[in-house]
Amino acid sequence: MKRILTSETPSQKGNKVKISGWVETRRDHGKIVFFDLRDREGIVQTVFSSGEPAAYEAAQAVKSEWVVEIEGMVQERPEKLKNPNLATGAIEISATKLTVLGEAKTLPIPIDTDGYEIGEEARLKYRYLDLRRKRLHQNIKARNEVIHFIREFLRKKDFIEIETPIITKSTPEGARDYVIPSRLYPGKFYALPQSPQQYKQLLQIAGFERYFQIARCFRDEDPRADRQPEFTQLDLEMSFVEQEDVMALTEELLIDLVKTLYPKKEIQEIPFPRLTYQEAMAKYETDRPDIRKDQKNPDLLAFCWVVDFPFFEKSEQGGWTFTHNPFSAPKPEYMQNLMEQKNIGTILTTQYDIVLNGLEVGGGSIRNHTSEALEKVFEIMGYKKERIQENFGHMLQAFSYGAPPHGGIAPGLDRLISLLQGEPTIREVIAFPKTGDSRDLMMNSPSELAENQLRELHLRVQKEK
Ligand code: ASP
Repeated sequence: MKRILTSETPSQKGNKVKISGWVETRRDHGKIVFFDLRDREGIVQTVFSSGEPAAYEAAQAVKSEWVVEIEGMVQERPEKLKNPNLATGAIEISATKLTVLGEAKTLPIPIDTDGYEIGEEARLKYRYLDLRRKRLHQNIKARNEVIHFIREFLRKKDFIEIETPIITKSTPEGARDYVIPSRLYPGKFYALPQSPQQYKQLLQIAGFERYFQIARCFRDEDPRADRQPEFTQLDLEMSFVEQEDVMALTEELLIDLVKTLYPKKEIQEIPFPRLTYQEAMAKYETDRPDIRKDQKNPDLLAFCWVVDFPFFEKSEQGGWTFTHNPFSAPKPEYMQNLMEQKNIGTILTTQYDIVLNGLEVGGGSIRNHTSEALEKVFEIMGYKKERIQENFGHMLQAFSYGAPPHGGIAPGLDRLISLLQGEPTIREVIAFPKTGDSRDLMMNSPSELAENQLRELHLRVQKEK
């Protein structure tokens, strides 16, 4: 017999079926034993009675979270025992055969609650169990829906999805890089990408015009409560566009996504209001303003754009550094100042940030697409010619072979999905997150390397005193 899902059982009234899954609960009423059997679709009640002695006997030994296969008849429940809150609540399976597929020890954490009450250490150590709880199953499935929607949306708009390397080179995005020691080249290191920024720009020079990727980004930043060392962005880049085009596309995507997948949510204002950096700072004292008119309404989504950021700010060493993205172009009216390195503090960038309910959910910009302008940015930041060549020579060179004007954006999917799901942290919508201080408690990582691995990598660990 072929296995069917619990969700299919109501349509099989009067038929014999085979189902399999986990025993969510087990209630022993003496002559009758009930299991709620859970599979990826939901649960269904199964009944073992002494009328079927073999199955009934087998059911005695089974405990919750064991994995079993059950054969039985789908029967209508007596009227007063129907459960209208359950999709399969009008029927039950009268079991004729039970096979144990996998036994389970008592679980170290409860999984029949929403889980917020359980310490994070225990939840993350046993994440594969934590994920069994309904709330997390729903979050991970919702994440899949969001990503699927985005892919479809962008495909229809002629974007193509292109994978870019994970083993790459150090990139300046304002954070520290995760590095990988090279075995073949002693003393040399790869880095994990802080974002696919350079590759996506190079794909514009390669003529693809419309790129996107559900991209993993890696940043070795100091621990903060709701930060992850790796996170996922919807990374996109387009050629022959201006600020308005990228903003309009992003806005259409977000509105469509909310209306399709979260119809109960209310977007406070369409088109999304725009604030300049100055306005945001003057009115809200932050460049991530929470403009919600009703902060108690859990269904309210108040998107806004923040634009006109200063391009540069003073660094701790007293020089200039970029505020957002060194690859951004200045607003056209400031190009001359950039090229002449004049009034640097007043130069505004084409950067646009998208903010949702007071949290940044993405940012992007129009890029400099001439090597002269890009070089100026690094000169203003005090990079010597050789360092510019060494770090960005490939970009400058690429720009010299016919670069289209281009720009893009990268909404952060973890934050966006956690807000849409009404979750307090991004960890609730990531299957295997790390702790706030960057540890993987399940895999026990980071961990030490064996002496021979270190040797192969030409590394020696210096014990801190
Ligand atoms: N690479 C940028 C970031 O990671 C996004 C962009 O400008 O497209 O924030």
